[in-house]
Parts: sequence; C-alpha cells; structure tokens
Amino acid sequence: MLDLKQFEVWFITGSQHLYGEDTLRQVDEHSQIIAHYLDDAAQVPVRVIFKPVVKSPDEIYNIIQEANSATHCIGIIAWMHTFSPAKMWIRGLQILQKPLLHLHTQYNRDIPWAEIDMDFMNLNQSAHGDREFGFMMTRMRLNRKVIVGHWQQDHVVEGIGQWARVAAGRHDLKGGKFVRFGDNMREVAVTDGDKVAAEMTFGFSVNTYAVGDLVAVINQVSDAEIAALTAEYADAYQLAAGLETGGLRHQALRDAARIELGLKYFLTDGNFKGYTNTFEDLHGMKQLPGIGSQRMMAAGYGYAGEGDWKTSAMVRALKVMASGLPGGNSFMEDYTYHFNPANNLVLGSHMLEICPSIAKGKPSAEVHALGIGGKEDPVRLVFNAPAGPALNVSLVDMGNRFRLLVNEVEAVEATESLPKLPVARVLWKPQPDMQTGCAAWIYAGGAHHTAFSQNLTTEHIETFAEMVGVELVVIDKNTTLRQLKNELRWSEAYYR
Ligand code: MN
Repeated sequence: MLDLKQFEVWFITGSQHLYGEDTLRQVDEHSQIIAHYLDDAAQVPVRVIFKPVVKSPDEIYNIIQEANSATHCIGIIAWMHTFSPAKMWIRGLQILQKPLLHLHTQYNRDIPWAEIDMDFMNLNQSAHGDREFGFMMTRMRLNRKVIVGHWQQDHVVEGIGQWARVAAGRHDLKGGKFVRFGDNMREVAVTDGDKVAAEMTFGFSVNTYAVGDLVAVINQVSDAEIAALTAEYADAYQLAAGLETGGLRHQALRDAARIELGLKYFLTDGNFKGYTNTFEDLHGMKQLPGIGSQRMMAAGYGYAGEGDWKTSAMVRALKVMASGLPGGNSFMEDYTYHFNPANNLVLGSHMLEICPSIAKGKPSAEVHALGIGGKEDPVRLVFNAPAGPALNVSLVDMGNRFRLLVNEVEAVEATESLPKLPVARVLWKPQPDMQTGCAAWIYAGGAHHTAFSQNLTTEHIETFAEMVGVELVVIDKNTTLRQLKNELRWSEAYYR
C-alpha cells in the first residue's frame, strides 16, 4: 500500500513567555528530543516533525494555519510541557482543520526525589498545563485523541502510531475520487445513500463513469500486455486445469487479464482511489470482473460490488490505515450461516470479489459459471482466510447522519474442504456470540456489505469516527442487546 513516511505529523509544544529564556530553551530541547524519538520509532509509521515552541496567541494561530495548508501534514501532536494559558489557543483551535492528538506526557518519567526543587516543578508541569489545554478543547467541543504516559512507554508510542495511521486514512479520503460504473443495484437500499453528505463529511467524491468508457480502455489492451499478465497469474496462483497457456479455457484467463488491465489503466489515468460496479451494467464486457477486482483491491484500491460506493471508500480507508501491517483488508459480505449450536459460524464471501490480501496460502485461479450478470464464466481467485481476530466495518447512511458500525469477530480455520464452493471465503464467529452479534448488527441497521479487516482494531475505527465526526456503534464481547438498543435510542436524540 502507501508508504506512510510521505506523511508528517507536527509536534507542537505550548508554553508562554513568563518562564524566561533559560526555561524556554529547555522546553525547546526536550520537545526536540521527544519529537525525534517518536520520528525514529518503528511503531510510528509517519514522520514526526518538531516545531519550535509556541508562546503567544499569534504564534499558535500561525503554526496552525501553516499546518492546515501543509500538503503532507496529516495532523498535530500538542503537548504543554509547561503551562500555556489556554485562551491563547482559542483563535488557533478555531481554524484547526487537521486531527489533533493531545499527548499528556512529561519529559522526566520519575520524580527525582532527592533533587526536586521549585525550578524542576516549574519546568515539568504538564500535569496541570495539559489540563488547562484539555479544558479549552472540551469547552470548544473539539474531538481529539488524548494519550497519557511517559513518551518512551510502548503504549504511548503505539497509541501515537495508531492515531497517525487513522489520520493518514482520513487524509487520503480528502479529495479522493471514487468511480461508480453504473448506478446502485436496482432496488437495494443500504448500498445507496447521500453522496453529497458523504463528500461533506469524509471529503471523497463519487462520480459515475460510463461502462462503455471502461470497455474502450479494456479493448485497447495489447496482446503482449495480456501475455505478461497471464504469466504473472501462473506464477502467483495455482491455475485450475485448462487455464494454462494452450489449455482449453486459456481464453477465459486472457479475457480476465484484459479486463484487469483495462480497470488498472482507467483507475491510474483518472487518479482514482477506488470504484464500484454492478453486474446489472456490464455492457460490452465479456466477464464480470472477478480476479481483476480482487487484484485491484490487493493493489490498494477501494472496491465494493453492486454500486456500494460507501463500502468501497471504507475498504480504501482501512487499507491506507493498515499500510505495512501484516494481514489484509477486503470487501466482504455476510453470506451464509452455520447455525450449529456446537459451532455457530458466519461464512463471509461474495460472488467473486474478495481481496487476496486476506488469503491464507496461495490462491487458486479458477473459472466457473456465474448465475447472474449474463456474461461468460468469470475467472476468480479462490482461497481460505487464516484464523484470528478481525473486524467487520459497515458505513450506513441513517438519513440525517452516517453511522459507522463495527463488529469484532473471531475468524476460524475452515475445517472442511468446501470442494464445490467456487469463491474465496472466510469463516468467523461474531462477538459476543452468534445470537447477540447478529441481532445487534440488525438492530443497528448494519449493511450486508462490510469492510473486513485482519489488522486494524476497534480503536482505529473509533478514532476515525471521532476525526470525521460520525456516529460509532461497536458490537464486541461486552455487548448486550438491552444496552445496545438504549445506545441506539440515545444516539437518535443526540443527532436529532
Ligand atoms: Mn453484494
């Protein structure tokens, strides 16, 4: 995915002139040391850039204005080493357009019991300086992330890294362009929604492009390019019998490769970050894109089927947040249940388009008939997913707001071989249990489409919801239906 080192967070320390040059010089030094430490930390995937200590309303206003317009700056870390009277921050915070992390730390980890004097106390007073700053942000009703602890502690560095990942995902959506080939699948409700509101909230735009324009690009792909890509398929995947060069069904593989290359060129040329299509609008295409969409997702594009632009954008956002982490993120659909009291399971899959970034082992490339779409048999990658904790994330349009819904799940190994199932699949157990998890999801209006993540946590999504200012509903091991139903009712009042 993306190299997150292209992004910066600015480390801004607040103080005031009261302390005199000597103290302010030490504040500056300490802040530089902390910023450099975070910049070097492996858990922080972005650059951390030290900025000179701010001591007046104008300095604060100016640095925030600068951060707002700096292209690669995705957020601010603020820390009050000393006391920074917070009315000085009002004008600056009023124009802040980037996420803020309030680092509540202290340069010294331990109190130097034998040496501590009033000079030490005056220099190391974030314990109250940060409370003054915190009040101002709360008074102004500003969302932010607060992280508490000594700056060298793992949970602090990891927390900063996690926040930075989310800030990168948010930043990437701002101005992001998504393609909708055709419209929504006819009559489907949850995949539809308000694209204007989405652009105002998340910053990404969704616009329609004619499938014919994509087909024109597909038709221009050269035989040499197709030969190179089918060779890449043969190398990367287990080709089903007949798909190999000279095989009886090799033409299907060539057609699929042509579609993939057309998609890739269309998305690259238009500088798009993701797309959605629908099997109801494939005019001029030989197959519904299967392996092509799967591989576009693996390359980092957002995707969801049937016109579901919201899930496509979420898949993209999660992929950016997870850049460089082991595991993957995919478009997903709750497909079929195993209602066995001894082993309740959800089988997640889609007609074709599950991202191989979540695969366990080498996927097989297969061609099978597809009952809908009315096209030739599409090539798709078939695989299982590994066991482990995962998330399903759904973005739903409630009419007056967006709701992000998360269900923590436990993916489990497929113990059966499923020899006749011609699609990639994942098996999982929803938290807290099948009955509660599924009922909670349905009460919360969660879609059948989700973004499935193996490498992000609920806290990433919580941070994201706060950054963009949308509702978050979490279904986890502590969920009870009575509590959840109340939460949904209270949210209705909150967002009225
Ligand atoms: Mn679907």
